[in-house]
Amino acid sequence: IKRIGVLTSGGDAPGMNAAVRAVVRACIYYDIEVFGVYKGYDGLINANIKQLYVRSVSNILSRGGTFLLTARSEEFRTKEGREKAYENFKKFDLDALVVIGGDGSFTGANIFSQEFDVPVIGIPGTIDNDLAGTDFTIGFDTACNTAREAIDKIRDTASSHERLFFVEVMGRDAGFIAVNSAIGGGAVAMVVPEHNWTIDALIKRLRKGAANKKASNVVVIAEGCQLGNAYEVADAVKKELGYFDIRVTVLGHLQRGGSPTTMDRVLASRLGVAAVEGLRHGESKVMVGMINNEIAYTPIGQAIKTEKRLGAEEFRIAKILSI
Ligand code: ATP
Repeated sequence: IKRIGVLTSGGDAPGMNAAVRAVVRACIYYDIEVFGVYKGYDGLINANIKQLYVRSVSNILSRGGTFLLTARSEEFRTKEGREKAYENFKKFDLDALVVIGGDGSFTGANIFSQEFDVPVIGIPGTIDNDLAGTDFTIGFDTACNTAREAIDKIRDTASSHERLFFVEVMGRDAGFIAVNSAIGGGAVAMVVPEHNWTIDALIKRLRKGAANKKASNVVVIAEGCQLGNAYEVADAVKKELGYFDIRVTVLGHLQRGGSPTTMDRVLASRLGVAAVEGLRHGESKVMVGMINNEIAYTPIGQAIKTEKRLGAEEFRIAKILSI
């Protein structure tokens, strides 16, 4: 392996820059030339590719977002688009590609790798934590901290006014951010896609809290939950619990931004180095992740198809602590 391309794709996540930096510096450490592909797969299709050097990645470790920019490339979903991408891959004489992104980006990487027999390795970068083959994805810890910090602030106003707040957090079809920020932020309840909660059960929990003179009431709603969005859940609860002064806050994109936490920077650094080392050792069509604090290479197909389940333990803990 003499020349590697690196790109970020799909939704941005804090720590992607740290991962790019690690890939670039590990390449240079191992005498491999490294090329940044800008704007995800679109950059490969449009030859938006530049060589990166040690100092190209100075001062990006602490920055959220991705300096390589990211995109959702419709063209890469087509065979013609991927052919163009392969032409540029050859033109720049690349030997392998490192893709930092989520499940969609890995699906694309897997197809590209199979079609053109190109070595590809994925690094999990998504705030949603919804990839198997790694305990945590890059950006998840930062997003949880951002959501939890917001919940702390909302709790201050919730308890001062004795209001009931519904806070909607991101996570797509997964409730990882919701569960972590709910436990970390001391929410009275959380509604997540993985758990078959009903409005009745939620109302029962809130009634119990009110009877116990609970000082503040924050309910965390995962964006993908089956009961609807935070406004819909709030409306349904309002019909039954008229005595609560109810407010809704949708955290939205602020959860994607911000300086990555130490956890995310270290994870990104370790996975970035492991991606380059994996390619040197012949790994391909794999995602590099961290399982029980050890580097693990999982076939991409398996990482995107296997469902990562939320542990029942978190629900148990949250329930015990919500009284
Ligand atoms: P996040 O989970 O943060 O949203 P993601 O990587 O899952 O990130 P997607 O928008 O699903 O984000 O995918 C990113 C890009 O990967 C797509 O815009 C497309 O270019 C490529 N991609 C996704 N699915 C396929 C596919 N089936 N074939 C080819 N390319 C694909």
